[in-house]
Amino acid sequence: MNFPSKLLENAVNEVSQLPGIGKRTALRLVLHLLRQPADQTAGLTTALLGLRNDIKYCKNCHTISDRELCEICENPSRDNSIICVVEDIRDVMALENTQLFKGHYHVLGGKISPIDGVAPSQLNIVTLINKVKEGKVKEIIFALSSTMEGDTTNFYIYKQIKDFDIITSTIARGIAIGDELEYADEITLGRSLIHRVPFENSLKML
Ligand SMILES: [Zn+2]
Repeated sequence: MNFPSKLLENAVNEVSQLPGIGKRTALRLVLHLLRQPADQTAGLTTALLGLRNDIKYCKNCHTISDRELCEICENPSRDNSIICVVEDIRDVMALENTQLFKGHYHVLGGKISPIDGVAPSQLNIVTLINKVKEGKVKEIIFALSSTMEGDTTNFYIYKQIKDFDIITSTIARGIAIGDELEYADEITLGRSLIHRVPFENSLKML
């Protein structure tokens, strides 16, 4: 792509680094911004910088939060003895939309994936095991997507907590294999949460 302007080229290059955005789409977005009032671009850059500089991760569940503790962990009516293990904040948002879960979450920040170079040490696993060791947890619900990486991660965690006196369950596979939680509709996701099965059963299915 030949640009008549270096400023335009720089902006297109930056935008095209976003996932799923090619150079052509980036050019369209940049030209759109140029046609809008300047304060729209200012609003966008301020929001992005604020996100980058001020975002926090809840010190209890690791989800994205504006404060030290997220609203869910801070809410006294939520049951902190039931912990739903998810990959990232999108899963928390999807499960919260079902309005059926009143426990806490634990956000791993990814899934174990040797191919992508994601090792267990890069995920928020130790803090989850520590919560179990502290003895306050009654149930761990695995709600990772049923991909190979999700299964590997579930099993890695399960091995470390299976000897503690807790229930381990996994959301029912109403979610098709390989589906991501965030794309499941609320009813399907809610159902798979209610009809969760003992984690050991899911092992036999493998
Ligand atoms: Zn939290």
